[in-house]
Amino acid sequence: MTCIFCDIVNKKIPSDIIFENDALVAFHDIRPKAPVHALIVPKKHVASVNEFTTEDAPIIAALMFAAPVVAEALGVKDGYKIAFNVGRKGGQLIDHVHMHVLAWPDSPEGKKEVAPI
Ligand code: 5GP
Ligand code: ZN
Repeated sequence: MTCIFCDIVNKKIPSDIIFENDALVAFHDIRPKAPVHALIVPKKHVASVNEFTTEDAPIIAALMFAAPVVAEALGVKDGYKIAFNVGRKGGQLIDHVHMHVLAWPDSPEGKKEVAPI
């Protein structure tokens, strides 16, 4: 199985990469829904959070550990949101698991409500 995010992972499609390791790639969202909006994508094609199996536990851990690394790289480690859309009714449009990293660094009180992403 391959998809647009597999193509980004494999550098067939260009992206603005923030961070990369053996397990994942983090890059800027092409249509940001917040002043800071990055995506963290596992290199393995897994369609959604629903498809994770126990053998994917290291990938899930890698996604979580990457969030503060990406937030720090973007200068927003003091305040950010992470989110996964799951399924069409959950707002997922690309069927390759991705963690959204969103931040509103210029909002003094932070973001209390989030528009759909
Ligand atoms: P979803 O709605 O599936 O949770 O999120 C998909 C996200 O991928 C959207 O925020 C969308 O803007 C972003 N996206 C779609 N195609 C591309 C692309 O080719 N490059 C990048 N960098 N982001 C993309
Ligand atoms: Zn894929």
